[in-house]
Amino acid sequence: MNTQDTIIALSTPQGSGAIGVIRLSGPDAISITNQVFAGKDLTQQISHTLHFGLIKDGDVIVDEVVAGLYVAPKSYTKENVVEISCHGSNYIIQQILNLLIKKGARAAKPGEFTLRAFLNGAFDLSQAEAVADLIASDSKASHDVAIQQMRGGFSNELKGLRDQLVHFASMIELELDFAEEDVEFANRDQLRTLILKINSVLQRLISSFEMGNVLKNGVPIVIAGKPNVGKSTLLNALLNEERAIVSEIAGTTRDTIEDELNINGIIFRFIDTAGIRDTADIIEAKGVERTLARMKQAKLIIYMVDALQTPDELQEQLTDLNKIDIPYLAVVNKADLFNDEQKNEFAQKEVLFLSAKENIGVEELKTALLAKVNLLSINTSETLVTNIRHLQALQNTENALANVLNNIDNPITSDFLAMDIKQALHYLGEITGVVTTDDLLENIFSKFCIGK
Ligand code: GDP
Repeated sequence: MNTQDTIIALSTPQGSGAIGVIRLSGPDAISITNQVFAGKDLTQQISHTLHFGLIKDGDVIVDEVVAGLYVAPKSYTKENVVEISCHGSNYIIQQILNLLIKKGARAAKPGEFTLRAFLNGAFDLSQAEAVADLIASDSKASHDVAIQQMRGGFSNELKGLRDQLVHFASMIELELDFAEEDVEFANRDQLRTLILKINSVLQRLISSFEMGNVLKNGVPIVIAGKPNVGKSTLLNALLNEERAIVSEIAGTTRDTIEDELNINGIIFRFIDTAGIRDTADIIEAKGVERTLARMKQAKLIIYMVDALQTPDELQEQLTDLNKIDIPYLAVVNKADLFNDEQKNEFAQKEVLFLSAKENIGVEELKTALLAKVNLLSINTSETLVTNIRHLQALQNTENALANVLNNIDNPITSDFLAMDIKQALHYLGEITGVVTTDDLLENIFSKFCIGK
């Protein structure tokens, strides 16, 4: 991978804005900029300074700009970096980019700035990936998780354990050198203890994935119940806009829209809201299957009956619901149609009364949803795994360690033991980037935007 050249990209979003920031990184970032900059001699300035000047293409003034200098290694990429703040017109930005490319810079590939930061040791791979998550985060919860990971998160934890395992690996290699003498440098009991310790950390991280994913992408939630009880109306009330189509005719289909609701920083992602209309009849044989399949994707279900049904009917449906092991909130809609006696009958059950149409009880429902999520024991300050690549590496490590344990308990030769430990080290290293291949890096960084 070539890091000897100087790369350039627009770092702010495409389109006009008040300011556009063009970033250069590489050995010649400052000297290339200096060729078109009319103002102070940038090559003579100290790091972390701002300089006002003109960008000129020959005699033509392209823009008035401010150039920010970061001299290696004190920059994001640990290379020389210049950030040119120009006026945010597409035309100006294109002119400046073209001009600097003519002077020797190369258009950056997606994620290439962050790739360089990683290659130059600014952070490990999982932290680099957290940068992408941080930029993409759109709720408090996903932001918390990304920040945590960017600041070291579980890679610190894994690094310490990996170092200890490296120590054992070298001891066992040493044994191989003295194979004829039948010596044991690596204490097998200590090795077993270490592996059990690593395993317990792995298991915690692996099981955190489900929750990490929920926080990153939103809590998947389903509104279920018979046709016409008011599910679409509730969805509208929750989203506070006419996204779902409400119709008098049960079973009207509509396009699938992924609807999201942000309550106090937690995103709720409504699954298959189109299905609300087309398959909701839980007693119909086919309907049951399809509704169940839909509900099983959820972490939380809002189960709705309406005032036209009886408490016994509700009970029957809830009994069905209990068979799938997903937490739910039972709501009785159209409470505006109730008389007091009917309401009392339902009040025996643990239900929330709603009038979706009148927007009554919707705020209470939101509070109840949050309370349910807290019961799912989400703790955003904990170390959570949110990345499928990390999950796979953790699972691979776990399998490799199982082989190591097996080798300790049923020793054949140290060769096998050494091999399995190496395998485990390999997978652990993949997470933090101690072990990388060009393909892996390409795969990770190509998902970034250009300019990151
Ligand atoms: P879905 O099939 O479960 O999605 O039900 P809809 O949301 O399409 O509602 C079916 C009918 O019930 C529509 O005519 C709604 O206007 C009506 N409806 C929904 N919520 C309420 C409510 O709180 N009170 C009353 N009286 N009618 C409602």
